Amino acid sequence: MTPELMEAGARARASYEARLAQTGARRPVALGRGLGLPEPDFAHGVALYLDEITVSFDGFKALTALSLTIDVGELRCIIGPNGAGKTTMMDCITGKTRPDAGKAFFGSTIDLLRLSEPEISQVGIGRKFQKPTVYEQLTVFQNLELALATDRRPRASLFSRLSGEQLDRIGEVLSLIHLRDDAASTAGLLSHGQKQWLEIGMLLAQDPVLLLLDEPVAGMSDEETERTAELFLSLEGKHSLVVVEHDMKFVDQLTEGKRKVTVLHEGRVLAEGLLSQVQANQQVVEVYLGR
Ligand code: ADP
Ligand code: MG
Repeated sequence: MTPELMEAGARARASYEARLAQTGARRPVALGRGLGLPEPDFAHGVALYLDEITVSFDGFKALTALSLTIDVGELRCIIGPNGAGKTTMMDCITGKTRPDAGKAFFGSTIDLLRLSEPEISQVGIGRKFQKPTVYEQLTVFQNLELALATDRRPRASLFSRLSGEQLDRIGEVLSLIHLRDDAASTAGLLSHGQKQWLEIGMLLAQDPVLLLLDEPVAGMSDEETERTAELFLSLEGKHSLVVVEHDMKFVDQLTEGKRKVTVLHEGRVLAEGLLSQVQANQQVVEVYLGR
C-alpha cells in the first residue's frame, strides 16, 4: 500500500471510531470499514456471488465453471462426494487459492479476487476449518477476547481493559455457543464439540456478514450435532451461512424441508433444490447418495 492510501485509511478509521464512540452504537458487521477497504453493498440482497470459477492444480480441474449465489441472511448447505471441490470453493472465497478464471463478489461491490486473505476476513467473511483451532491453554473467555483483538483496535488487546461493548458481545456469544458456564474453563479441557463451538464463537465475536463452515459437526456426538443445528438456525438472518457437510441427518435438521441445498460434483454444481428434490435426482443418487 502507498503511504497516501495508508494515511487515508487511518483517517477514515479514526473518524469511524469517533463516530462509534459518539453514538455508543455497537460496531456493525463490516470490520473493513474505516480500514481503507471498499464498502460492501448488500442492497441487492446478495451476500456472495461466484460466477464460473475455475481452479486447476497441475492441469487437474478442481473447480470447473462453478457458479453460486448466496443471499443475505441465507443458510445454505453444500453437499457432495469427497473431492467434489467443496473445500477448494471455500479457499477461493477466502483468498487462499486464486482461481484461473471466473468472478467472486461479496455483495455487489467487493471483488474478492482483488483482496488478500486478511482483507477478506476484515470485510466480513469468517471461515471455520475442519479441525478446531482454539488456544488450548487459555480460558474460553480469553479465546473470545483474543478473537476480538484480531480486529486490531488499539484497546482490544488481551492485556488491556475491554470496553462495555466488547464485554456485551462476548456475553452474547457465550450464550449463543452454550458456553456461558464454562467461560473460566481452560479451552483444552472442553469436549471436541465444545471446542468446535468455541471456534465458531471466535468467528462470531467478529460479527461476520458471511460465515463459511467446513464440516462443522465432524466428530460430534448426536446431541452436539443437534445443538449445532440449533445454533446455525439461530444465526440465520443475522449472518449468511454456507455449511459444507456430509452428515445427511444434520443437513436435514438444517434445511427443515424448506431451505435450498447445493450438490457439488467434479468441481461444478450438479443439482440445487430442496433436500428431498436433490435426493430424488437420479444423477445425484448415482454420484453420491446411492453409494
Ligand atoms: P472436497 O472438499 O469436496 O472433498 P477438495 O476441494 O478438497 O474437495 O478437493 C477437490 C479436488 O482437488 C480433489 O481431487 C483434490 O485432490 C484436489 N486438490 C485440492 N487441493 C489441491 C492442491 N492444493 N493441489 C492439488 N490438488 C488439490
Ligand atoms: Mg473438504
